[in-house]
Amino acid sequence: MRSPIPDYLDEILDKHRQDRSGAPADYIPALAAADPEKLAICISTLDGIEYASGDSDYAFTIQSMSKPFVYGMALERLGMSAVLDRVGVEPTGEAFNELSLDETSGKPLNPMINAGAITVHSLLGPSGSSAAERAEIVRAGLSEFAGRELTIDGSVAESERAGAYRNIAIANMLRSYDVITDDPDEAVNGYIDQCSVLVTVADLALMAATLAGGGINPKTGRQVLSPRVNRQVLGVMMTCGMYDVAGDWMTEVGVPAKSGVSGGVFGVLPGQLGISVYSPRLDSHGSSVRGTNIFHTLSDDMGLHIMEAPEPARSIIRRDRRFVGANGEMVRICSLQGLIQWSGAENVLRTMDEPDSTTTVFVLDLRRVYSINDVARRLFTEALARMKNAGVRVVLMDPENLLECAGPGSPLPDVKLIDSLKPLKGLKRLRNARLLR
Ligand code: GLN
Repeated sequence: MRSPIPDYLDEILDKHRQDRSGAPADYIPALAAADPEKLAICISTLDGIEYASGDSDYAFTIQSMSKPFVYGMALERLGMSAVLDRVGVEPTGEAFNELSLDETSGKPLNPMINAGAITVHSLLGPSGSSAAERAEIVRAGLSEFAGRELTIDGSVAESERAGAYRNIAIANMLRSYDVITDDPDEAVNGYIDQCSVLVTVADLALMAATLAGGGINPKTGRQVLSPRVNRQVLGVMMTCGMYDVAGDWMTEVGVPAKSGVSGGVFGVLPGQLGISVYSPRLDSHGSSVRGTNIFHTLSDDMGLHIMEAPEPARSIIRRDRRFVGANGEMVRICSLQGLIQWSGAENVLRTMDEPDSTTTVFVLDLRRVYSINDVARRLFTEALARMKNAGVRVVLMDPENLLECAGPGSPLPDVKLIDSLKPLKGLKRLRNARLLR
């Protein structure tokens, strides 16, 4: 069978190719010269598969799409509080190049607008670092997300530098308020190199998939960002990534995303995939016209909206059986299935909470559970400990050690682990329930 996914991507591009509205960025002459007909899309899965269509080998500069990744790099290197002390996380509702600082804190409002991004850039490397030194840190760091060595397009950087009055003004504003403490010109120059790193839609989709996978690059397997930093980056992308249309984007498309004035847009669906689109004609907000429209289509067609509530999970309690053993022991076997998070755990805890219980042996069967998150694990561990304290013998079937109850230092060291319910089947199972003693 030929997968319908590549055909679908071809169709999407064909559907939007006729739209020639908008215009390439003109304040950076090298971008104004881009071929406006270029159109490309790529989806990267969390197991490292790419589906691409259109001009997917065409390289363009990353521009503002570098901002979330460089923010992640700074958080990782300096720690959360050092970065949050300098740059906030509040949406501005303003354009990306607004000269703005938070009125009370005096900090840039968020790292997705230029004021915040220039500040974040200036935090990399030891103080007094040159533009070239910081640009190299950024280039190497972005390469980790892309899983290959990326390069800087010097001619696009020069072209931007020649007319960078707005960013120079922003950097001087930041310097005058001591938000950045180094030379503002070096900060802008380094930031412009950051924006001039060349990527393809395939690179961007993989970079996005790295964020979708909790910071692990699906191709190289490397943990590029820690889960906490990764979450921070996605949170900021979700609220601030699309600047002054963040609310519209979030309600309509519902995928944390970032656009750049080169015409790229990428989106991250946590736990599922990374997507990127390239088409140079921009709307009045500095985002790709076709890119934006394609994201609307993809979100509808592929059910990507992050706020679309998933179907309530089928009961995770697969079976809940009771037996009487030969010696009168009252055995209860509770078999669970699927993915267990807070609500599933709550469900199980509710059934375990029997005020006048006669159960003397409680078997928790996790053989068909494939994932338990941290909160569910803690709830179960506590519930089983309480059962033991109430005098019930607890038996666990947990071959994958999802509850982490086996082994040294486990929270329930004396819980019995078994790997089969065979002795409990049929009539025999009543007699053999004794095995559980
Ligand atoms: N280099 C561009 C600038 O700072 C990036 C802006 C963008 O992509 N939105 O103006």
